[in-house]
Amino acid sequence: MLYIHIPFCKQKCSYCNFHFSTSLKYKGEMLAAIKKEIGLRSHELQEKELKSLYFGGGTPSVLEVDELKMLIDEVLKYFTFAPDIEITLEANPDDLNSAFLKDLRSTEINRLSIGTQSFFDDDLVLMNRAHSAAEAESSIKRAQDSGFENLSIDLIYGSPTSDFSLWKESLNKAVALEVPHISAYALTVEPKTALNQWIAQNKIQPPKESEQTEDFYYMSDFLKLNGFQHYEISNFAKPGLESRHNTAYWQYREYLGLGPSAHSYDGRSERSWNVANNQKYINALNQNILAKETEFLSEKDRFNEMLMIGLRTAKGVDLSVLNQSFSAEIQNHLDKETSGKLQRGTLVIENGFLKIPEVHWFLADGIAADLFYLGGD
Ligand code: SF4
Repeated sequence: MLYIHIPFCKQKCSYCNFHFSTSLKYKGEMLAAIKKEIGLRSHELQEKELKSLYFGGGTPSVLEVDELKMLIDEVLKYFTFAPDIEITLEANPDDLNSAFLKDLRSTEINRLSIGTQSFFDDDLVLMNRAHSAAEAESSIKRAQDSGFENLSIDLIYGSPTSDFSLWKESLNKAVALEVPHISAYALTVEPKTALNQWIAQNKIQPPKESEQTEDFYYMSDFLKLNGFQHYEISNFAKPGLESRHNTAYWQYREYLGLGPSAHSYDGRSERSWNVANNQKYINALNQNILAKETEFLSEKDRFNEMLMIGLRTAKGVDLSVLNQSFSAEIQNHLDKETSGKLQRGTLVIENGFLKIPEVHWFLADGIAADLFYLGGD
């Protein structure tokens, strides 16, 4: 699977620490550099028939449709597309006007991941989003009217400007809009964000974990009642419409990430990441140089990551893969660390998969961390 990072946004959301620039001045140079990187690195991906292509960011919907087409054409010089390929564009509601959507339908892009975040203006103002509550809803309807059926929306819960009843209303709206995929995240306060600063200055209250927990479990019950499968902690899908791209990450498969700050993984032990600086990225590619760093994951790193990622999914971690991939010492460690949790029911084994029952999912990161192998490599 291939990921292309488009590092531009119209404005900086108050909670965001992703890599992007709010100036589009170097958009042309950036696209030329990404185009070059596709050619220079396509050989790194073993998979030559792509099952997933994902435009993420930043905000890829700030690009013109012709620019997206140019990138897709470039990808097609080196790869073929599987007949049922999933091609996702992350898009912000304010970019999804009818003309843009109509042109987008003429490309191979067949899935939109819309940065809705909230259906309420108070939340959107706090988050410094570029769209209004009215646009949050109308963009979804316009996308559907344009023929995009495979839609996902992002929602954020537990903000200081929301409460339980507003969260219930948001979920009602999402279900009424017949969106088949929802990614929902608790608002987190990242360092070096405006949100962090406002909290430090006592301008707003920090998010309350107890409220976020209540929101989370209500969402899970409510969406399941409405036909969604809760297939990963933060993700819900109608049957058959799970994100293939994200599922491949969670299954620890190879991926190639292009564009500044994008990460790649070779499916074995090598991970790399591009420089998170637009100018350095462009300058390097201008000289046919890849501005990336590489690390080699130890057996311990791979084991810990596999648990961390896999235990956040409904399916869990395939014990046969763990058995084949790791040393007897690590297996013994796992047996020892899981036994108490299996007895207490915070872990279960089902059909050969080790998993956390959904009722304990809000604590999943802590449960996985308890199982980490901290011994020598
Ligand atoms: S649009 Fe997305 S990437 Fe851009 S600042 Fe907002 S949250 Fe971050």
